Amino acid sequence: MSLITWPHFAAAELRCRCGKCASTGAEMNPNFMAELVTLRQQFGRPMALSSAFRCPQHPVEVNKPAPGEHCTGLAVDVRCSGVDAVEILRLAMNLKFTRFGISQRGSARFIHLGMAPAGGRFPSPAIWSY
Ligand SMILES: [Zn+2]
Repeated sequence: MSLITWPHFAAAELRCRCGKCASTGAEMNPNFMAELVTLRQQFGRPMALSSAFRCPQHPVEVNKPAPGEHCTGLAVDVRCSGVDAVEILRLAMNLKFTRFGISQRGSARFIHLGMAPAGGRFPSPAIWSY
């Protein structure tokens, strides 16, 4: 089995970072990743991910009533602020992303991009702040 690789995004950036699981980054949904690569190419500059795939035992997920969108391989958090955040949101809304979380306070600013199917467990389309 060959590991799928993506332009601009390394496996180390995509895999769960709980430090305990065997995640490789291959858990990311290929359709989601194709859209993320398109977004990165349109943005034209480096786009750092503060979080991508998370296993259900990841510290952020473990206390939730049910595993969140990151556990489906259909979500990332893009580290960004200021005009970059506006540009990434604008571009993402014109692509196939359907869920947008805006965290633009303090020093760890990011935008959550998700692609949950309509009628599923996660409201879609949706936008929220943290
Ligand atoms: Zn993990």
